[in-house]
Amino acid sequence: MIRKFLRKVFNRTSTVPASTAVPDTIPFKQHGIRRNQITPCALKTAMQIQQAGYSAYIVGGAVRDLLLGLTPKDFDIATNATPEEVHKIFRRSRIIGRRFRLVHVMCGAEIIEVSTFRGNTPSNDEDESFTQTDEHGRLLNDNVFGNQEEDAVRRDFTVNALYYDPAREEILDYLQGYEDIRTKTLRIIGDPTQRYREDPVRLLRAVRLACKLQMRIDTATAHPIADLAPLLQNVPPSRLFDEMLKLLLSGHALSCVVELRSQGLHHGLLPMLDVILEQPLGERFITIALKNTDGRIRQNKPVSPAFLFAILLWHEVLSSWNTLQAKGEKPMPALFDAIDKVLSLQHEKLAIPRRFDATIQEIWSMQPRFEIRIGRKPFRLITHPRFRAAYDFMLLRCESGELSPELGEWWKAFLTSDAEKREKMLSTQGPTQKKRKRRTRKKSAAPTTGGTETPIQSEQS
Ligand code: ATP
Ligand code: MG
Repeated sequence: MIRKFLRKVFNRTSTVPASTAVPDTIPFKQHGIRRNQITPCALKTAMQIQQAGYSAYIVGGAVRDLLLGLTPKDFDIATNATPEEVHKIFRRSRIIGRRFRLVHVMCGAEIIEVSTFRGNTPSNDEDESFTQTDEHGRLLNDNVFGNQEEDAVRRDFTVNALYYDPAREEILDYLQGYEDIRTKTLRIIGDPTQRYREDPVRLLRAVRLACKLQMRIDTATAHPIADLAPLLQNVPPSRLFDEMLKLLLSGHALSCVVELRSQGLHHGLLPMLDVILEQPLGERFITIALKNTDGRIRQNKPVSPAFLFAILLWHEVLSSWNTLQAKGEKPMPALFDAIDKVLSLQHEKLAIPRRFDATIQEIWSMQPRFEIRIGRKPFRLITHPRFRAAYDFMLLRCESGELSPELGEWWKAFLTSDAEKREKMLSTQGPTQKKRKRRTRKKSAAPTTGGTETPIQSEQS
């Protein structure tokens, strides 16, 4: 039935040219991916595009991940229908993007990205119908449509250029990507230097995907990476931010960051990483925090980007804070100045969206308050809406050796104690205690917030 329908479908024509090369066809019995491994939304979208007379394949990371036994993050579709043609098929869809126009098809909360096969004709020609590049060879637009083979060739890595047809349950492979999956080799398509120049984000993708997929980067693919690292300076900060976030939330953040550094790719992203990782305290802090984050991601627990950036930038804040205090500034104003300085620098370099600022600032500026264990101050601190994130952050500082482990233990005990025990804990904390205790006795104690969670847990929104 499906085959009959497909025969009908393939006789239809499209505005996008047909491929001339014959790809390897990998049948189900070899690759083992059933169409029910695709989300209903992606399957429905692909089938409806095919029913309208076009070709439609699941492509990119989803096919790769399924072949590797991983759960795909999202499903992308490639088609020979133009964005306008796709948009006409789906009532709930919209055309998005400028540099790369594609269609978002919505079903419920799920969004499927549908992109038209791209051609690969870079040129510095004035002709708008050609792909334009800047003086470093970076592609400035990518809206030239092509056939499926051309689309495969302009993707980044061979393992990302496999096309799964859900109707036939077949994979089309133009570039021996299937073999590279088998041997776990990450190989860039085409001339490595030219491909990195066209889009320097591919340098980061190589490192990220190799870590995430536990693949070996092919020698020729790896060779130019360190030399071309400065090209990242020309990439719009918002793209760097997106890629960096993917890396940090990949579940392999620690190995990715270590690898980025060894390839010299971190300069454009986290320039302070060198300095931080060279100090034993800084290295311990980031290592513990990223390990923790990776653990949470692998257990499907939420992780907040703001918390992550607070971690990555903390030692930058610390060093600036210390310098300002050494110059005679008072501790709290010095801390706020240091925070402003670090955040404004990172807005330029990494385009950390401003919506994260408030959380990052609060996590940092609450830190000195954990060290004041007298009077009503701890009670007030635990009622702060951002307490949990700041508390998790403080525990990481203790674990890394920046603060005494005793402080962390005290707070853990304080949070799990009842009101009476809390009062007792505070009464053993120093000479100012008595006076403050009398003054605030009428207030009721703040509720227990738990305290059994490990760092980077709650308050991660
Ligand atoms: P992830 O699992 O992180 O989503 P992915 O490979 O699916 O990895 P996406 O950013 O979702 O990454 O991209 C989808 C597909 O688009 C890729 O598999 C690849 O074929 C293509 N692609 C993405 N970025 C580039 C790029 N910079 N250059 C060429 N092709 C790219
Ligand atoms: Mg993807």
